[in-house]
Amino acid sequence: MFDQKMYNRREILQKSGLAVSTLIAGGALSGCFRIPEFAGGGAGTGYPNNGKRAITLKHSQSGEEVSVVYKDGKNYYRDALRQIDYLMRDRHQNAVYQTDPRLIDLLYDLHYASHSQDPILLLSGYRSPETNAMLRRRNRRAAKNSLHMKGMAADIRIPNIHARDLRQVALNMKRGGVGYYGSRYIHVDVGDVRSW
Ligand SMILES: [Zn+2]
Repeated sequence: MFDQKMYNRREILQKSGLAVSTLIAGGALSGCFRIPEFAGGGAGTGYPNNGKRAITLKHSQSGEEVSVVYKDGKNYYRDALRQIDYLMRDRHQNAVYQTDPRLIDLLYDLHYASHSQDPILLLSGYRSPETNAMLRRRNRRAAKNSLHMKGMAADIRIPNIHARDLRQVALNMKRGGVGYYGSRYIHVDVGDVRSW
């Protein structure tokens, strides 16, 4: 379950340019933490654990999982990004593409806000043009210029978190597009802010 109170508090603090949380995954913290992404960008200092960010992504169908520290606050770890790229690959074409690091940050923040201990389940990451065309033949709702083809989008869910709640948090973040597919999953991307 989302701690809506906590999130609202973050939202309020965000408006004053300072986001504060008293909880992180794994335990309680004392003190204040500035969360640059919530506060509109910044150097990335001030995260818990010296700013080190770990993410666990699990492919929903295959169960393949990657669990890495991908950022130290300022810098991304190249090897970790490559592991994430591989998990996000297009499985129809066996094609790997570079994932936009902003998307990974967005996934991290969504997960962080959810207070979940479970991995983020990935339904779809990168899609090659061929795969996107195939999906469009099957379902006209698939976008012609999908940001999935640029490594800028992911379809995800988090176990025990309702997609409706996840959508709301993503909408509040205003960091790109948010698509809602009932209780099954949400689409997030780091393109223009929009929703469907
Ligand atoms: Zn999508």
